[in-house]
Amino acid sequence: MPVLEALIAALRSGAIEIVDLTAPLSETTPVIRLPEPFGNTLSFSLREISRYDDRGPGWYWNDIVTGEHTGTHFDAPVHWITGRDGADVAQIPADHLIAPAVVLDFSAQASADPDFLLEVDHIRTWEAEHGPLPADGWLLYRTGWDARSASQQEFLNADETGPHTPGVSIECARWLANEAPVRGFGVETVGTDAGRAHSFDPPFPCHASLLGAGKYGLTQLQNLAALPPTGAVVIAGPLPIIGGSGSPCRALALVERS
Ligand code: MN
Repeated sequence: MPVLEALIAALRSGAIEIVDLTAPLSETTPVIRLPEPFGNTLSFSLREISRYDDRGPGWYWNDIVTGEHTGTHFDAPVHWITGRDGADVAQIPADHLIAPAVVLDFSAQASADPDFLLEVDHIRTWEAEHGPLPADGWLLYRTGWDARSASQQEFLNADETGPHTPGVSIECARWLANEAPVRGFGVETVGTDAGRAHSFDPPFPCHASLLGAGKYGLTQLQNLAALPPTGAVVIAGPLPIIGGSGSPCRALALVERS
């Protein structure tokens, strides 16, 4: 059977399941909030053009208001100053958007400590059990944070000292950028860096290292719990915004069920 015909047959029979990793977009979708004096993004919203009324009797449509980094979204290399000469989101080759993915589950650790940081040793230990990270694929970092995504407050988890959400250490960020074979790093939190990474030295090491190395970020993922540790294929579809630093993104995983 031709491969694509076999794929469709497997999707229809349930032998391959599609898991939607995407956060629904609405005015209540959590967005990152930076302190003064930094600029901030708008929340997602709809602006109605017409709805079967005088403005358009037979049709309903909206303009959308969104940031590039709103909801489940894709970070392009040019998002960070270290990647300023790298690809914008429209320049990312289409064949980078379908890739193998592994899921590393640190939800227990993140539940016990919201400031939990992924270290290289954690990944090495995982590799000893599951094999190497996938070449040109995604490392998806499960922290259980998607369970908080109905509430901006719980999702950002900020107090007077700033946000507290799990991330990666400085050393691990450098390793992911320069040593690991993956092309991208995906998270359930509002950004790929830890909530307190603003105070790291250098600040926001995951953004700085990965995007500086021409790699990608994928954020605000949901339903990683439904994926196996290895073997999933992720389809991540940012909009080809010319010059864009990122884009809201539909992220789907294909998972083989036996
Ligand atoms: Mn982003």
